[in-house]
Order: sequence, then structure tokens, then C-alpha cells
Amino acid sequence: MRDLRISVTDRCNFRCVYCMPKDVFGKGYAFLPKTSLLSFEEMARIARLAVTHGVEKIRLTGGEPLLRKNIEKLVEMLSALKTPDGRELDLTLTTNGALLAKKAQALKDAGLKRVTVSLDSLDDGTFRRMNDVGFSVAEVLEGIAVAHRVGIGPIKINMVVKKGSNDQDIVPMARHFKGSPFILRFIEYMDVGATNGWKMGEVIPSAEVVRRIRAEMALEEIAPNYTGETSARWRYQDGSGEIGVISSVTQAFCHSCTRARLSTEGKLYTCLFATGGHDLRALIRRGCSDDEISATIAHIWRARGDRYSELRTAMTGGALPAVAKVEMSYIGG
Ligand code: SAM
Repeated sequence: MRDLRISVTDRCNFRCVYCMPKDVFGKGYAFLPKTSLLSFEEMARIARLAVTHGVEKIRLTGGEPLLRKNIEKLVEMLSALKTPDGRELDLTLTTNGALLAKKAQALKDAGLKRVTVSLDSLDDGTFRRMNDVGFSVAEVLEGIAVAHRVGIGPIKINMVVKKGSNDQDIVPMARHFKGSPFILRFIEYMDVGATNGWKMGEVIPSAEVVRRIRAEMALEEIAPNYTGETSARWRYQDGSGEIGVISSVTQAFCHSCTRARLSTEGKLYTCLFATGGHDLRALIRRGCSDDEISATIAHIWRARGDRYSELRTAMTGGALPAVAKVEMSYIGG
């Protein structure tokens, strides 16, 4: 266990068509009540115990993490944690950028090192269609610029590529961020959850993404930063930066996965495609000791056998595993 992703809210101010489609997550949707959510103290406690089991990297996510009130307080609590040998944690956050300009300074002051911003297109019409709430590209770019200005970095930009929606923007996105301080990463559209109507035919394989960019700009593959890195790295041969491709559909990386996920209401999941989690909130609220919770975490982790993406690959062309997967907005992206 090296990475812990904490979903701090199941709510979002976007309704991205591939993640929280409006017809499901509309006005009548029952989001979690406040009493169900882990408090910052409960999250920090689980994080502290996870660090004793090897976690070195924590990512705050959701839903949209910047919607959680006083999120910088949680950042401050987590940034005080140290690995058993005294090193600082790699503390980061994934955001849609809508509130980043407003929040960047407070996050930086609280100890946030870096941030990943989701941006699916530079074309305003396409972007508004994909986030489905009419949010503009310019406002996300402003959030990125402010985060950079206050010294949060390196900043990564995530683009989910969905065939027929934004694949025409692969090369323009690459061109735009080439030579900038920002690292652009292309994510294969995944069959997370059960509401996005995923079809294999809407996935653009990473190999195709690289092929399209290479046709215009010379690229060479470079070594991962560390074992288990989700993204394969490619560098522009003229020295103007790098891109990443995350191939969770066409090249599953379950075998090297070191990620645990803590849901908004305190369930520990050992896979993004899991059907169930382990209720740590119940242990906390029942008054269990650190040792008891720690032993439970160890037990869950040792027993894990998840390899959904590898099974999906093995079955491509046939039926997909028929499972009721949790939604990404609940478990955290
Ligand atoms: N609200 C934040 C954001 O927009 O980055 C954090 C949560 S979001 C679920 C995390 C990431 O998951 C985003 O980059 C989003 O684009 C990505 N994502 C959501 N659904 C996806 C899917 N079906 N396939 C691939 N990536 C997806």
C-alpha cells in the first residue's frame, strides 16, 4: 500500500457526461447526508494509520474536493504527517479547477504541494458539452494559472478522451501545453460505475493518442518515475516537456497497483472497480483503538485480489464481468 485516495465529498459542481450524467445525478439524486461523511479528524486518523502501512502519497478527490467546506484544514492536517522514516508525504489533489483560482493560495499555505486539474478540451463548446453545466475553458485555465503563480506544482492536466466527443482535441491540447510547465496526461475512457453507458467503441487507445501526436511532434518514451506509476511517459524530443498516457483499458496495470481508496463515508476500497468496501467509519465511531483499526487495514490489504481491468482485457470481445461497481464520484477518481 503506497497510495491512498480520499474522497472528501460525493458532490460535484460539474455533470461530466462520462462520470455524473445529469439523467442520473439530477435534482432528485440523493447525495450522502452530512452525518454520513467522515470528519477531517476521522480522515486524518485513517490516513495516519495508512502511513504506518506504507502509504507515501495521498490524493484528495471526490466528487469535487474543493466543494468540501474548509478543505484547506484537512490539507493542513495531512501535510503534518510523516513517513515512518521521517519524510514528508506526497500530498496532492484532483480538481475540475472551477474553484481553484479562489482556493489556490489557502491550499498552498496549508501545505498542498501539487495538484492535478481535469480539462477535457480547449474548445469552449466541446468543454461545455462535456461538463454539461456550461463551465468555460477560460475559467479552468485561470485556476491553473493562479495555482502555478502561488507555487503549487508540478501541475498535471488530465484529459479523458472519449471517441466522438473530444478526440479531435488530442493534438490541439498537446500543442497548447507543449513547452509549458504543465504535464498533460491522456486518460482512456473507463467503465467505472454503472451509469455512464460505457462502450469499448468509445475508447481511444493510448497507442492511438501517441500516434496522432507523434505525427506532428517528435516523441520518445521515457522510464516511469517509480514502479506502479499509472501513467506511461513520453518526452518531446526537442526538450519541450513531456506527456503521459493512462491506459487502464488497453493495458491494465492491476499487477502493479498500490492504491487504496477511502470513500466519502469511510469505506476502504481496494479497487476503483470494486463492488463493495470495508466500513472503517463503523470501527471509528464504535470507539475502536488505533491498533484495532490498523490491524483491520492490514487484513483488508493482505486479502485483496482485485484485478478487474485485467479481467476486462481478458474478456474484450466477450461479456464484461457482470458486477455492480460503485460510482467514481462516490469512491473518488
Ligand atoms: N472533480 C475532480 C475532477 O474533476 O478532477 C475529481 C474527481 S474526478 C472523478 C477524477 C478524474 O476522474 C477526473 O480527471 C475525471 O475526468 C476522471 N474520470 C471520471 N470518470 C471517468 C471515466 N469514466 N473514465 C476515465 N476517467 C474518468
